[in-house]
Amino acid sequence: TPTMRLDRLLSNLGYGSRKEMHTLAAAGQIVLDGKPLRDAGDRIAIGPDLPSRMTVQGRPVDPPPPVVILMHKPVGVVCSHKETGERIYDLLPGRWRVRDPALSSVGRLDKDTSGLLLITDNGDFLHRVISPRRHVQKSYVAELDRPLTGEEGAIFASGEMMLEGEEKPLLPGRLEPLGERRARLIIEEGRYHQVRRMFAAVGNHVTALHRDRVGGLVLPDDLKPGGYRVLDAATAETVF
Ligand code: URA
Repeated sequence: TPTMRLDRLLSNLGYGSRKEMHTLAAAGQIVLDGKPLRDAGDRIAIGPDLPSRMTVQGRPVDPPPPVVILMHKPVGVVCSHKETGERIYDLLPGRWRVRDPALSSVGRLDKDTSGLLLITDNGDFLHRVISPRRHVQKSYVAELDRPLTGEEGAIFASGEMMLEGEEKPLLPGRLEPLGERRARLIIEEGRYHQVRRMFAAVGNHVTALHRDRVGGLVLPDDLKPGGYRVLDAATAETVF
């Protein structure tokens, strides 16, 4: 396990400045394995079990990097760091917005799309999930303006479908009709507004879009919009 100075660890987790961490430690407010750590200059081992061993001001310490968060993204919230308006990062505790390394969504869902969104500080994990070469399936349920014609499935599965303004055809996608104006679409890429543009290209219009699965990770029924969970490493890897 890697080690790190306590002041640096907690400052990177967003608890405050290093100086403030020294004050907190001296006051006995940082406890590891039941014993106060009074010197924030001490090095400690950093592992995934830290939150079960360390408290800060009486509460379990936040999980150290690398973390993977599974969020139920609500409609009306953006994945961008910059945009004004409510952001997915605003749904996390304030401290988590200033973590170093920073948290980032694994790909993006549109403002108007809801469902399973992964958020991580692990660049390697992020790239493995979004790489089309890894063939991680993203499952979407779309509500449609017009009835399905029955021809969409073959077009989406062809491997030759082109979206306006792009040079590379889409990888094959799988359509499962769920009703006259409702369908599941499973794709392995994440191009800009991909699902909405695929239905627009066949003369339809998506009126609501929800993602219920990414690879082996399914959005839990009991996770409400705006809610999130920190995944343990083994669970996060089941995405592949
Ligand atoms: N396709 C879309 O059109 N929007 C999303 O948010 C995700 C996939």
